[in-house]
Amino acid sequence: MDSVYTSRQQHQILVVAAHPDDEVLGCGGTIAKHALQGDLVRVVLLSEGITSRDRQRDRQRRESELIALAQAARQAGEILGITSLVQHEFPNNRLDSCDLLDIVKVIEQAIQEYRPDIIYTHHAHDLNIDHRLVHQAVLTASRPLPGSSVKTILFFEIASSTEWQTPTSAPAFAPNWFVDISDTLDIKLKALATYKSEMCPWPHPRSLEGLEYLSRWRGATVGMVAAEAFILGRNLIHSLDSTNGAITKI
Ligand SMILES: [Zn+2]
Repeated sequence: MDSVYTSRQQHQILVVAAHPDDEVLGCGGTIAKHALQGDLVRVVLLSEGITSRDRQRDRQRRESELIALAQAARQAGEILGITSLVQHEFPNNRLDSCDLLDIVKVIEQAIQEYRPDIIYTHHAHDLNIDHRLVHQAVLTASRPLPGSSVKTILFFEIASSTEWQTPTSAPAFAPNWFVDISDTLDIKLKALATYKSEMCPWPHPRSLEGLEYLSRWRGATVGMVAAEAFILGRNLIHSLDSTNGAITKI
């Protein structure tokens, strides 16, 4: 028996990520696993991507690349089996130029619409400013008010951002939640391969090899062939003898 909780409810999953590719980097194997088990997975991406490569944001100049990136996101989502994808156009790597409240409102709207019981999002102390602000906005948008649908919040790691923050300047990513993705690692890697503009050659951590090694290593630390690692932000349990209201099995 996997757990003391034997029955399984259908989960409503919301993945909130800063950039197109973060959703796959952070929890692509877990998304595929949820989808295979019949859960509904909605992905919300906040930023457009790419435009931070220029000194000044110029969407027009990067239009064809932005279109290709949005297509890659849709294709990756299809590979993972997600239910829906919404991509917003907040400025890439410049979320600190926006009002946090505007980001919170967008996430609140998604929570109201989808009524997720599980949210996956960024770790609080990534090197990337957008990741940190999205983390903060998700926590604000999912305040545990009476009647809130959100029972479980999990923070993922993003290769080339989470491990690049120095541990002296912020708490390190110390995972305490592991999802076995032995069966879905191939799907994750296939979805990542659609993000041609975002993947880098080995030995960059955001290379297909680096991401496979990370999944293998995260798995090896807990006796699994491959895993994605998370930090549990919150888990609300309403009943100990059913799956009512909390994540128990994926
Ligand atoms: Zn990112």
